[in-house]
Amino acid sequence: MHHLSIHNPATGALITQVPADDDASVAAKAAQARAAQPRWAAVPLAERKACISRFRAAIVAELESLAATMTRETGKPIKMSRNELNGLLGRLDFFLNETDASIATQTVFQDGGMIEQIEHIPLGVVANISAWNYPWFVGCNVIVPALLTGNAVLYKPSEYAALTGLAIARLLHGAGVPQEVFVPLIGGGAVGAALMEQQIDGLFFTGSYATGARIAQAMGTRMVKLQLELGGKDPTYVCDDADPKTAAESLADGAMYNTGQSCCSVERIYVHEKIHDAFVAAFVDTVKTFRAGDPASEDTYIGAITRAPQLEVLDAQVADAKAKGARLLLGGERLPGPGNWYAPTVFSNVDHTMTLMQEESFGPIIGIQKVSSDEEAVKLMNDTRYGLTAGVYTPDASRAQALLAQVNAGSVYWNCCDRVSPRLPWSGYGDSGVGLTLSTYGIQTFTRPKAWHLRSV
Ligand code: NAD
Repeated sequence: MHHLSIHNPATGALITQVPADDDASVAAKAAQARAAQPRWAAVPLAERKACISRFRAAIVAELESLAATMTRETGKPIKMSRNELNGLLGRLDFFLNETDASIATQTVFQDGGMIEQIEHIPLGVVANISAWNYPWFVGCNVIVPALLTGNAVLYKPSEYAALTGLAIARLLHGAGVPQEVFVPLIGGGAVGAALMEQQIDGLFFTGSYATGARIAQAMGTRMVKLQLELGGKDPTYVCDDADPKTAAESLADGAMYNTGQSCCSVERIYVHEKIHDAFVAAFVDTVKTFRAGDPASEDTYIGAITRAPQLEVLDAQVADAKAKGARLLLGGERLPGPGNWYAPTVFSNVDHTMTLMQEESFGPIIGIQKVSSDEEAVKLMNDTRYGLTAGVYTPDASRAQALLAQVNAGSVYWNCCDRVSPRLPWSGYGDSGVGLTLSTYGIQTFTRPKAWHLRSV
């Protein structure tokens, strides 16, 4: 049997080895899921909801140890692990409260003997290939509404969050979801690729553009619903009428929270020249208070870089920015090991010739660019192949509205950042992907709308 070795990115130490899947086990489990799915779809929604309610209760009961597991395998600071699990509870409540109405059969026309109805039927067997950075959030955004709407789920957690993936499976099974209906598949890219070979009815992917593009290519001729939630290069513009200190404190957190390893981390900051220097000073002051250290410790804010290869991406962006004239204000180098560590890094005097302002950094590093007008800011914000989120800081609501209306991003923020709500759809423009999760659309997306034309006479 194959095994997956799981390391602690904060120390490099081996945590454990877990049994891994291979082509044969993936095929066998996929066949079992297909056989089991119709029975699950026939279970009344109230009973499927009862399973998710018990899953929620089990998370609450085990929250501390689940947070510790996530911290150990991803290097996420423990407070942020707890925040993720506590935040998840609201998402579960949203799905529990909204699924009935979202998938109820709708009569949309009735005239004489003619009735037209929309029925939401489950897709069938849904595959979920997931990321490590918010494994509970991004996993449950798919798993929970997919199960509630009657699908079987083949779930491939990231190899960097496999213990969390196994914990999700254990708790779902304990809550009454049959083993064949929710199936974890353990391993790296090869197991994900084997999963795509199976007869599936939907593929929901969260991860990088590079992998997403490979998946889109592999699925090209398959008529299977495909959703890709990919990366971003999320911009924020701080207007001349904003309070520089308040904006700096909010945006430093938006850029560095989760060690910058969030799909909606603030990745580019544009500041009006009138307040640029005050903003930069306050930003640097705030980042200086962010303590790097043992992710298990309560006062740690900067944790480990989860994937070692990302250190090279950060090194290259720093070298490129320096070579092209950026001003390094803080950090700019790896922190001593063992484990994968990068110092919180702040550059000013950056421009769009630099990879720092073009490619996803996915680490605790940020570029701040001076602009002289709202028009220039909008132009720069839209100068990207991505489009996940974008924000504006100003006390002026109509100015914010006018600016954000021009920005190509799935989510826009006024005086806030790095925020996800279960009530709102999560989607992106351009290379940030296709499809969506969350909101009532993110429940219906796991169903096929079947159109009924009914003439009674
Ligand atoms: P990744 O693309 O490296 O891996 C994602 C998943 O794909 C993993 O489970 C991996 O094992 C699997 N995989 C790798 N190669 C594969 C292949 N050839 N076939 C099938 N599966 C394969 O991404 P990651 O490092 O886990 O996550 C970080 C990325 O995810 C960042 O770009 C981040 O912005 C993005 N992300 C996006 C969102 C969103 O909602 N848009 C949320 C979280 C993370």
